Amino acid sequence: MRLILLGPPGAGKGTQAKILMERYAIPQLSTGDILRGAIAAQTVLGMQAKEVMDRGDLVSDDIVCAIVSERIDEADTANGFILDGFPRTIGQAEALDRMLEEKGIALDGVVEIKVDAEALIDRIKTRAAESGQVRADDNEEVLRNRLDVYRAQTAPLVDFYENKGLLKSVDGMASIEEVSAAIERVLAS
Ligand code: ADP
Repeated sequence: MRLILLGPPGAGKGTQAKILMERYAIPQLSTGDILRGAIAAQTVLGMQAKEVMDRGDLVSDDIVCAIVSERIDEADTANGFILDGFPRTIGQAEALDRMLEEKGIALDGVVEIKVDAEALIDRIKTRAAESGQVRADDNEEVLRNRLDVYRAQTAPLVDFYENKGLLKSVDGMASIEEVSAAIERVLAS
């Protein structure tokens, strides 16, 4: 099973990816996690990516595409994978198409987790205020930028994959269990 999870920041992609990993025994490939790993390891790549990520902007298509291409070649993806946080631009989606064709594999589906962006901001702000660990205003500014970037650069992927007949949408405002069950249903149909 080769899947893409699509949805704005905070939609619950990571949570659902972990459930899908168990269900299908396939790894989650999160470009965000890989980039954070590179920052922690203080690699050249990590140092280049950090500033861009701290602002909530996107790392260049070339960098993330190279990361994904290498990761897909690892042995644990033999039965498939879940792409979480990639592709995030039309350029990345087109590069992914070429990449998969070269590797002789194809996607089974693109799961869109649909959420109401304003409700998400409220949810995350409330959580930040309650935890008292972060400055809520800073957080909100970066989050708003990430949502703007999502709307401008990533949301067009919904039509892109709809046109390929791969899009499967679920309501992401429901509970974790309900969203997970809905994903199971759309993948079975
Ligand atoms: P979230 O799921 O909370 O939106 P991620 O962990 O997926 O965030 O990504 C965090 C940051 O890493 C992004 O804001 C961006 O700067 C960078 N990043 C992750 N994936 C990509 C990608 N496919 N293209 C460009 N930048 C990316």
